[in-house]
Amino acid sequence: MAGCCNHDTKFDGLSSDYKRRLWLVIAINAIMFAVEMGAGHMARSQALQADALDFLGDALTYGISLAVIGASVRVRTNAALFKAVSLLVMGLWVMGSTLYRVFYVGVPEAQIMGVIGFMALVANLTSVALLVRYKDGDANVRSVWLCSRNDAIGNVAVMLAAAGVWGSTSGWPDLLVAGIMGGLFLSSAMQIFRQAVDERRALTQPVT
Ligand SMILES: [Zn+2]
Repeated sequence: MAGCCNHDTKFDGLSSDYKRRLWLVIAINAIMFAVEMGAGHMARSQALQADALDFLGDALTYGISLAVIGASVRVRTNAALFKAVSLLVMGLWVMGSTLYRVFYVGVPEAQIMGVIGFMALVANLTSVALLVRYKDGDANVRSVWLCSRNDAIGNVAVMLAAAGVWGSTSGWPDLLVAGIMGGLFLSSAMQIFRQAVDERRALTQPVT
């Protein structure tokens, strides 16, 4: 689900075919960020906006991971720290704006939520299809694959929220799903931060 995606994607020795597919996945994620964020504003849906941020986070993660191929551990832990900070900012923004909505409740547009949620699902399934050939490769490749698959589950949650909003004519299902996604952003930020700090500490420790 949202924010699930592991930062630990250190691509090494990639085939040009895999790189091409990865660039396609990055483009899909970037485009879906823009589409879903715009639609989220139009529909006044917190869940859509949170899901959009997950696309942005993934596009950045894969892009940075590709960029730091072969770089030193220090550079790679810096990239991880950047990812942790951006997840933290995303999580705080989602939690804050969702909390605001709790007190100024409006009913989001369920139809837009459902349609865009479905588009996001198709985008993530397309990414899964692009990467499926490499899913049994090394752990890093596997984590990208698992990430797109888990995001597809998040898209289904957005569609369920749309159905809930439509059925109850209230904004609560939207806020609930957005709150869960915001919480996942924050918990992955903490995990990534802790792991990066550990790796950094291992660098400075003398060999015994
Ligand atoms: Zn993701």
